[in-house]
Amino acid sequence: MSLFDLTGKTALVTGASRGIGKAIALGLAEAGADVALVTNQSSPADIVQAIAALGRKSIVIKADLSDESKLPGIIGQTVEAFGKIDILVNNSGIIRRTPAADHASSDWHDVINLNLNSVFFLCQLAGREMIKQGSGKIINIASMLSFQGGINVPGYTASKHAVAGVTKALANEWASKGVQVNAIAPGYIETDNTEQLRADPDRSKSILDRIPAGRWGRPEDLKGPVVMLSSAASDYMNGHVLCVDGGWMNR
Ligand code: NAP
Repeated sequence: MSLFDLTGKTALVTGASRGIGKAIALGLAEAGADVALVTNQSSPADIVQAIAALGRKSIVIKADLSDESKLPGIIGQTVEAFGKIDILVNNSGIIRRTPAADHASSDWHDVINLNLNSVFFLCQLAGREMIKQGSGKIINIASMLSFQGGINVPGYTASKHAVAGVTKALANEWASKGVQVNAIAPGYIETDNTEQLRADPDRSKSILDRIPAGRWGRPEDLKGPVVMLSSAASDYMNGHVLCVDGGWMNR
């Protein structure tokens, strides 16, 4: 299991307060990493406690990632607290559901700012540190809508297609420098982000009917794949977008 061991590694996870990000932060700590937890508004005392119970360290950084001026401080605080950054998981994301014809300009820009712009600039800032140290792992959280058009979420779809593209672009530049950049595309996962879909019985049924695994995903389903992409187990993986979707994309 040493291939997957993250002892002595430092990870930064955005959107670590709940949903997928919370499970990812805990999964990385369970594999041995210390973790910087980035949240927008939440104070994730439960996660700090759970990480301490595992014998790992954590810090909490509260920041609105759609404000680009805050991003250098986030990487700076992580390096100051832990001495380095080995793993970056860009997970924070929002979705705005309105038909394209009515999609407000503010919704478009809010989604692109957080889901795409903050992802690229955090990759750039962490990537500079990783290139200096000659190693690093970046995992961007993509989506089924990195491949498909979706319904009523044009800004989200644009942002997630772009996340897949940025992942491949950075992977090409940084593979030779010891930095692996990959993405995980979760399927339909039970979190606040999908509450509206699950509350609509017709939509919920049509989604479930297409999932070969026969159930919605749970945040914990992301733990194994993210540990793999954060560890030596994935040292020859570059620019891959890994679907964790119960088989959705095969249908
Ligand atoms: P979620 O439960 O809604 O959690 C969103 C997270 O993002 C929270 O931790 C939140 O922090 C943080 N966040 C929101 N706005 C932010 C901002 N301006 N600055 C910094 N952090 C901010 O979402 P989720 O379902 O776990 O989704 C996580 C990621 O997976 C997203 O990128 C999403 O697009 C992607 N994804 C989700 C699904 C799914 O089915 N759920 C499927 C595919 C992809 P606070 O708690 O502080 O607000």
